[in-house]
Amino acid sequence: MAIKPIRLFGDPVLRTPAEPVVDFDKELRKLVKDLTDTMMDAPGAGLAAPQIGVGLRVFTYYVDEQLGHLVNPELTLGDEVDEEGEEGCLSFPGLSFPTPRRIRAVAKGFDMHGEPVTLEGTDLMARCFQHETDHLDGILFIDRMDPAQRKLAMKAVREAEWSGLPAPQVKFSPHATQGKAL
Ligand SMILES: [Zn+2]
Repeated sequence: MAIKPIRLFGDPVLRTPAEPVVDFDKELRKLVKDLTDTMMDAPGAGLAAPQIGVGLRVFTYYVDEQLGHLVNPELTLGDEVDEEGEEGCLSFPGLSFPTPRRIRAVAKGFDMHGEPVTLEGTDLMARCFQHETDHLDGILFIDRMDPAQRKLAMKAVREAEWSGLPAPQVKFSPHATQGKAL
């Protein structure tokens, strides 16, 4: 097991666009394992490499008992929007807010061995693909909220006990995320 500290909101790595993976090597396979172990330990439904301080375009997911990963994802989104779905993020421990997301998403990319992969998701899986791919672009779920909701979310963030603490030292309760954080 290799559980890494999860970077929290305020850490600049979460605002830095990640680089495409070029080498499908042993280091990449270790990164996928670290992401998987850290996500399952949290527990979370998804985790993107920047959340453990690695600026590469890789994420893992665990939704509807399906565990997987995707490298260099490209999304194609359906038109239908779920306006009210609650969403959390492991980089905002204990908090979740209604966040508009497309209901359907197709995610194309590669597995850790460089084989092409196409994943189709609806509902929470589609939400997860969008949330994690956003992380790879330095975009956070608060950016996807309408302005009134974002204001409420930022107030909750400022009041959160972890807010403003240096990220690597923070260890938060695995129960606070309710298994829905991404
Ligand atoms: Zn997240």
